[in-house]
Amino acid sequence: MSTIYWNIPGGSVKNLNKHAILDRIRFTPGGISRVELARQLRLTRAAVTSIVNDLEALGLVQESGSQGPSGRKPVDLEINPSSGHVLGIDIGSTHVTVVLSDASARVLREWEEPLDVTRGPQTCLDQTNRIVQTMVREHHLEMNQVGAAGVGVPGPVCKDTGRVVSAPAMPGWENYPVQEVLQDMWHIPVTLSNDAELGALGEWAYGAARGEPSLVYIKVGHGVGAGLLVDGQIYRGVGGTAGEIGHTTLYEDGPPCICGNRGCLEAIAGGRAVAQRGREGVRKGLQTRLADIQPVESITFRDVIDAARRGDLLSQRILADTGQHLGTAVANLVNLFNPGMVVIGGGISQIGDLLIEPIRQVVQRRSLRAASKTVRISGALLGRRSTSMGAVVEALSVYMHQLAGR
Ligand SMILES: [Zn+2]
Repeated sequence: MSTIYWNIPGGSVKNLNKHAILDRIRFTPGGISRVELARQLRLTRAAVTSIVNDLEALGLVQESGSQGPSGRKPVDLEINPSSGHVLGIDIGSTHVTVVLSDASARVLREWEEPLDVTRGPQTCLDQTNRIVQTMVREHHLEMNQVGAAGVGVPGPVCKDTGRVVSAPAMPGWENYPVQEVLQDMWHIPVTLSNDAELGALGEWAYGAARGEPSLVYIKVGHGVGAGLLVDGQIYRGVGGTAGEIGHTTLYEDGPPCICGNRGCLEAIAGGRAVAQRGREGVRKGLQTRLADIQPVESITFRDVIDAARRGDLLSQRILADTGQHLGTAVANLVNLFNPGMVVIGGGISQIGDLLIEPIRQVVQRRSLRAASKTVRISGALLGRRSTSMGAVVEALSVYMHQLAGR
């Protein structure tokens, strides 16, 4: 891990070092010793000891007790799991997932149910609130015992205002004060982020890209979006719309996209396009298991994935083609960003190598050798949880750094 992704608020040098040490302890698997902290951060042992004492006094950090039997290995430090609770919330196009975790990001409870994001913010946030209130109550907590909540949505977000900027797939959400409304509802700090950004964070902190400072997470669900982690920092661009890879043009005269353009990656390789190709196959009378689903209009990309898993050749071909198209987009991205890793997540990635393998091959073929040689391409290790765990990371950052900064 070379950098700390969290934007540290201004303050004294000791304060800055305190935040840096806290993050090293949070994100080093298995804990880290005082000696190692001093070495990595180029601090004196005395400075580290003084800061660690502060963090222990706050109850945030504890000794892990994992030193060897001889007792000669330095004692590792870890986050004290009981120092707080946070919520990670993933609002998708067709689902909502809420995770309640302890301070060490261990999942205590998880709830997922269908949600229709096109019904607008009031309806969706009310539904989310009902789940949150139930989960918190069932865990014998009060809302004010929750330290913070991280929330992801399937569209670009302005971090400064906590609003959705513009999202073709989220009618009615543009400029709605999501962060403010939830903070007023729960009286705890709330952060709002793009779901693919959180996917990148989740996979970086606890998933396939652990410790990889430059990575791209591509969420392939109903739409296609990317979260960019560059040198340990989420890159959002000037207005928060960086990473909207789904609306990059793949074919100038391709099919129309919900954004108003034609031939966008999302219109060719997103979940809507996958479902559409499945329906077309049935209408053309091709031999496919999808023909068993009635009415034809109800076929979803999940049906195509199911059928592919059961050996349906048409569905397998659709997903392999999808991998080819995604591969072209990823090859461009690899040339542009030269990341150490590309992680493919979202609902369609659940099919695994049928999608990932064509992406690998196209990237090998199309991107510059120097860049393709060094990039690893992998499915998301956290699976459906990438975004909700990224939301947990964000929430814990807000909660812990506020506490440490006092
Ligand atoms: Zn588009």
